[in-house]
Amino acid sequence: MITVRTRIAPSPTGDPHVGTAYIALFNYCFAKQYGGEFILRIEDTDQLRSNRKSEQQILDALRWLGITWSEGPDVGGPHGPYRQSERSDIYKQYIKQLVSMGHAFPCFCTAEELNQMRAEQYARGETPRYDGRALLLSKEDVAQRLAAGRPHVIRMKVPSEGVCVVPDMLRGDVEIPWNHIDMQVLMKTDGLPTYFLANVVDDHLMGITHVLRGEEWLSSAAKLILLYEYFGWELPRLCHMPLLRNPDKSKLSKRKNQTSLTFYERIGFMPEAMLNYLGRMGWSMPDAREKFSLQEMVGNFDMSRVSLGGPVFDIEKLSWLNGQWLRDMPVEKFAMRMQQWAFRPEHTMKIASLVQSRVETFSQVVSLAGFFFTDGVSPDVKLFESKNLSSNQVRQLMQLILWKLESLPQWEKNVIISTIKTVVESMKLTFRDAMPLMFAAITGRANSVSVLDSMEILGLDLTCFRLHQALDLLGGVSEKEKKEWKNLMDLAV
Ligand code: GLU
Repeated sequence: MITVRTRIAPSPTGDPHVGTAYIALFNYCFAKQYGGEFILRIEDTDQLRSNRKSEQQILDALRWLGITWSEGPDVGGPHGPYRQSERSDIYKQYIKQLVSMGHAFPCFCTAEELNQMRAEQYARGETPRYDGRALLLSKEDVAQRLAAGRPHVIRMKVPSEGVCVVPDMLRGDVEIPWNHIDMQVLMKTDGLPTYFLANVVDDHLMGITHVLRGEEWLSSAAKLILLYEYFGWELPRLCHMPLLRNPDKSKLSKRKNQTSLTFYERIGFMPEAMLNYLGRMGWSMPDAREKFSLQEMVGNFDMSRVSLGGPVFDIEKLSWLNGQWLRDMPVEKFAMRMQQWAFRPEHTMKIASLVQSRVETFSQVVSLAGFFFTDGVSPDVKLFESKNLSSNQVRQLMQLILWKLESLPQWEKNVIISTIKTVVESMKLTFRDAMPLMFAAITGRANSVSVLDSMEILGLDLTCFRLHQALDLLGGVSEKEKKEWKNLMDLAV
């Protein structure tokens, strides 16, 4: 009998997302149910967006939840390396194979040419897609261009008619017409593979038997299936899990919900409760009990109990469940866990270095630095009244700062400072105009320990959460204002 092997394959391009944990959890339970292996692979082929910090945060967050993997970039294993950026030579070999078998071909189109091609297709009312022009080049022409070192990508051939049947464990056979599928780029000009090639090669070489992934990948499954066929490899079983949704049923997004696992860790959720809640996203225990542990989920796991209706990730329900977990602990354990959460050594050190010079007794620490231990703060609305700014300018300034901070790839004090500076300058204001607003929003008070250091310590999620809350307190921002301010920001910053 084959050993079941599943994997999570996150791209390290941002915060550790609750959606990653949800997919990891189901892959983990599925593998463990069959006594199989769950592995972790980092898909960092997008060199521009991927970074090691994000990778570390993803590993830390999954570990915090109690999900473990038997192979991965940190623990090694027989199929390594487990980071795609370290496997370029492997992909090159397989690309060569596809080209020599006639399943893939070099394409020399420049960005301008492709843009023009798409514009013409638009004008004719067609869906823009690669038109296969490189396939019309003669063999000699291609060889000459290659010999001359002309920049090129490698694309895969796709059938022009018929349908691809995607066998999905939850949906049965899903048909995708081939004329909806583009001749996907498999290798970029820089010689690095795209997701499609790397994903197929790695799942095959790493012996993955079942691929459980988010529903958003269903439409591109046809390309993967075709690649398996081209290589003559057995297709793993595919399962596209229903996407997590905001309470308004839209796809779970940062704009409407907190999506970062670190946020939930920071504001004192128990990892057991988070896993339990994620386990209830589209799945239920046979006896319908709401509270269960990871071991209990593994023990009762059954894929056929996954339902396709979009599961709603609702922070209120999560909080309710977390409350159950907290209350069910013996008080000694509760006290210990509370202490562990509040006084993580690294965090405590950072706070201590901010408050030490400003207190005469330990008891003063709480009033000075209590905001480090809460989720939100409750500033008095009067703290946002400014001598120099109108109330509209106050909201605009805060919204602009929030937008800019939200998209920062790096969270450090000097980057935070320069971000705020750029925004104030774009509004022809000064740094001093912004500071009282930041104090109020972040610490809940008119002054406190350094607010910029505090923002760095609190982290991006909590900082942005508080800025959102402050904006809500000030009446929120209308869609019209958002549009207007976004345009201004794009022009000026
Ligand atoms: N790297 C992809 C992601 O970030 C993996 C998709 C898959 O599981 O195939 O979601």
